[in-house]
Amino acid sequence: MEIRDRYAPSPTGLQHIGGLRTALFNYLFAKSQNGKFILRLEDTDRSRFDSSYVDNLYASFEWLGFHWDEGPDIGGPFGPYVQSERFELYKKYAKTLIENGRAYYCFCSSERLDVLRKEREAAHSSESGYDRLCRDIPPDEAAARAANELYTIRLKIPLGEKTVFNDVLLGDIEWQNDDVSPDPVLIKSDGFPTYHLANVVDDHLMKISHVLRAQEWLSSTPLHVIMYRAFGWDPPLFCHLPMVMGQDGKKLSKRHGATSIDEFRKNGFLPEALINYIALLGASYEEGKVLYSLDELRVRFSLDKLNKAPAIFDYKKLEWFNAQYIKVKPDGELAVLALPYAVRAGLFGAVGLEPAPEQRVLFTAAMSLIKERVVFLSEIPGKLGYLFAEPSVPDVAEFIPKKSNLVEALRFLKIGRGLVAAMAGLDDAGAECLVKDLAEKENVKLGDLLAPLRVAITGSRVSPPLFGSIRLLGGQCCAARIDRAIKKLTE
Ligand code: GLU
Repeated sequence: MEIRDRYAPSPTGLQHIGGLRTALFNYLFAKSQNGKFILRLEDTDRSRFDSSYVDNLYASFEWLGFHWDEGPDIGGPFGPYVQSERFELYKKYAKTLIENGRAYYCFCSSERLDVLRKEREAAHSSESGYDRLCRDIPPDEAAARAANELYTIRLKIPLGEKTVFNDVLLGDIEWQNDDVSPDPVLIKSDGFPTYHLANVVDDHLMKISHVLRAQEWLSSTPLHVIMYRAFGWDPPLFCHLPMVMGQDGKKLSKRHGATSIDEFRKNGFLPEALINYIALLGASYEEGKVLYSLDELRVRFSLDKLNKAPAIFDYKKLEWFNAQYIKVKPDGELAVLALPYAVRAGLFGAVGLEPAPEQRVLFTAAMSLIKERVVFLSEIPGKLGYLFAEPSVPDVAEFIPKKSNLVEALRFLKIGRGLVAAMAGLDDAGAECLVKDLAEKENVKLGDLLAPLRVAITGSRVSPPLFGSIRLLGGQCCAARIDRAIKKLTE
């Protein structure tokens, strides 16, 4: 059997963590089995549809870097992959259920259903949903009425029976049919299908072998299984994925922090980090190992690695993953990724200004200074300002090392002034050797000697590594900055 699974989002909102987890697990499962991963747009709810959400979906997955084998944008043997382009088909299939007695026309108006609901509410009735009034209209009479009246098509749930199916993760699930939504609508009065019908028909026609979806859909599955059987089709294998919760144990939502892929992207996350972390939401692969590339995950993923327990989304952990991926990015690649943030932050002279060629070279070279020290791409420009513009000279107090004084600070600066030209031509070890020797000769603590130098050159007591900064800025520039500092301290 060919393994075929799908991500079937309804474009009624931005792509978020939950959707990405479903898409990723489907992708990984299909790839691990040499199967096919399909994208299908379930846009039956036209009132909540917005094309910008479709654009967001494509942009998000483009950024994430994994793709489907069949889908609306690339087609495939079972297209179209957009439900609104398949509406006629659903009606045809619903009618086959009427013909075999598994569905019926319903002529109840929405007003009648409203009255029914209100009456039940007033009587504190435990009953809800449709009262099956039209279920027993003789089929011929119903067919004749359907030619002239507005109708919906409802599924005839077999009463007094139970529906049993197996969930790969949760095991056998049994559901009393009387507890399934009473005869749900398959085709609405405007001729549009409901989610349930379109979902089942498409999974069948698209030869979907496995449905991996969030556990919130579990309660719809008995209904879907009843529908498959009504059509005489074998249902796919179901696997309902553990819920994704916030740290307070409630379903992950905006209250907990960013949830849309867009926000993570804007906040300076790398797709590798997001994918790696999300692949661990509800699954574990190898004892003691947490860093996995997409390629590794494609090989290692299997359904028996899934956990039943809800997954907790931990923003701090995700940040840790991001820092790990930033750390190992080659300088050139990291610079390309961080550049848009730097342009937006005005690092190259003004907000929105692209770097001049020499600024670009400097920016790339600076990546090695900061990649061990940042969590987000968006932090990078803020750390590198002193390389692209002369920082203002800080207050005198900033230059004075702990337990030292102004006279000493001035002395350290002057010693440093004599060293920077040589240091600029040395690697870290060489530069360190040089200053260490001199510090010993001058009987100064190394830290004390370097502290005012750092402030003079970078404009701050806390900065990226000093030796690397001196190399990038060059001896002349550093000497000039030290001169400014000396001037200020002398005044
Ligand atoms: N359209 C549904 C959703 O938005 C699909 C559910 C399923 O995977 O069957 O999640």
